Amino acid sequence: LITIDPSRLLSDLENLRKIGECGPGVIRQAFSPADIEGRRWIAARMQDAGLDPLWDEIGNLFGLSPGDEPSILIGSHSDTQPEGGWLDGAFGVACGLEVARAAREAGLPGVSVVSFADEEGTFAPLMGSRVWLGTLSLAEIEDLKDAQGRRLGDALANFPESRNPGKVPLDRFRAFIEPHIEQGPVLDRAKEVVGVVTTIAGMRHVEIVIHGDQNHAGATPMVGRRDALQGFLKYAAALDQIYRSIASPVAVWTFGQLNVHPNAVSIIPGRVRTMLQVRDVTTEGLDAMAGAACDLAEAHNREGDIKLTARVVASLEPAHMDRGLVEALTATAAVRAPNRWRQMPSGALHDAGNVSRKLPTAMVFAPSIRGVSHCFEEDTKVEDLVFVCSLVAETVSCLLA
Ligand SMILES: [Zn+2]
Repeated sequence: LITIDPSRLLSDLENLRKIGECGPGVIRQAFSPADIEGRRWIAARMQDAGLDPLWDEIGNLFGLSPGDEPSILIGSHSDTQPEGGWLDGAFGVACGLEVARAAREAGLPGVSVVSFADEEGTFAPLMGSRVWLGTLSLAEIEDLKDAQGRRLGDALANFPESRNPGKVPLDRFRAFIEPHIEQGPVLDRAKEVVGVVTTIAGMRHVEIVIHGDQNHAGATPMVGRRDALQGFLKYAAALDQIYRSIASPVAVWTFGQLNVHPNAVSIIPGRVRTMLQVRDVTTEGLDAMAGAACDLAEAHNREGDIKLTARVVASLEPAHMDRGLVEALTATAAVRAPNRWRQMPSGALHDAGNVSRKLPTAMVFAPSIRGVSHCFEEDTKVEDLVFVCSLVAETVSCLLA
C-alpha cells in the first residue's frame, strides 16, 4: 500500500508558496521568472523522487517514472492568475510528487508527475495540455501576446529548457488523475472533505447585439426612444426567468461582458454588444440554453422596435471523467470518509478536461474555505489537503496492484 508522508507534502507546498509569494497568496504567471523558478524547483523534486524530468516544446514539465510500462500520471499546473492563491494547481503537482515518492518507497514505480504550462491563460487558457495533446499547434500560437505585450515565441526562446524539447507520447500513460482545490463553496458548505468529479462542464458563448437609436439624452423624450441598453435589460431579465425554469440544477449563466456604445453619460445608447456564457454538464442542456437565448432574441424582435441578433460563437463540449476511475476513487472515499464525500461536476475548466478526451482521466477536489479562489485569500484546511492526497495514493495503490 502507498502511504504518503503528510509533512513532505506540506513542506513542498510551503516551499513552492515562497516562490512568487505575495502576502498569503502567490503571483507566478506563466513564463514569468517566478513561474520558471517554481517549475525548476519542481523538476529538482522530481529528480529527487527518482523521476526523469523532461520539458516539452511548450514548456510542460513531466517527471517520468523509469521503465517502459505505462504509468499513472498525476499532476496539474503551477502557474497562477495575476493574483493567485497558493493551492490552485500547486496542490495537484505537490500531490503527484508525494504519491510518486511514496509509491517508489512501496516498491511501486508506476507513477509519473506533470506540471502543465500556462493553464491560467496568460497566453491561452489550458495551453500546455492542448499543445501536448495536439489540439493546438505551437505554430498557431507563437505570435500570441500576454497582457504586457510579450510574445509567446519570445518567451519560449528565452527559456532554455524548451530549446531542446523532449517528446512525451500519450502511450507512456495509462491514466491521468488531477487533484485540485474545488474553487467553489459546495464541499465547504456541506462540511465534506472530498469531491470526485464526474464531468467537467462544457460551455456555449452567445454573442448578442442590440440595436437602438443613438440620440441626445436630454432632448429626446422618453416616448419613442429606442434605447439599446433598456432593450438589453429587458432581454436579460426575461432570459434569466426562462433559465430558472429550463436549466439543469448545475447549469450556470453569466453576462460577463457588456459593451455599450458609445458609453457616454449624455447619449442614449445606440448599440449594445454582450457575450452570454452558459455552462452545463450535458450537450443537450447547453444546446437548450443557447437555443433559448436565440429564440428569445427573435421573440423580442417580433414584439418590439429594438433589433436583436443572437448567435453562438464558441462551443466546448462537456468532458466526462472515466467511469472506472470515478468508481475507484468514490469507493475509497466512501470507506475513508463516510458521508463526507460527494460526486460532483466541475464548473471550472481544467487540463483534465482536455486529457480526458485521449486518456482515462479523473479529478478529485479538496474543499476551498468559503469557496474562494483566484485571489490571495484562497485556502484549504491542511488536514483536507493531506486527506485528498492520501485518498489518491490509496486509489493508485489499487490501480497499480
Ligand atoms: Zn487550477
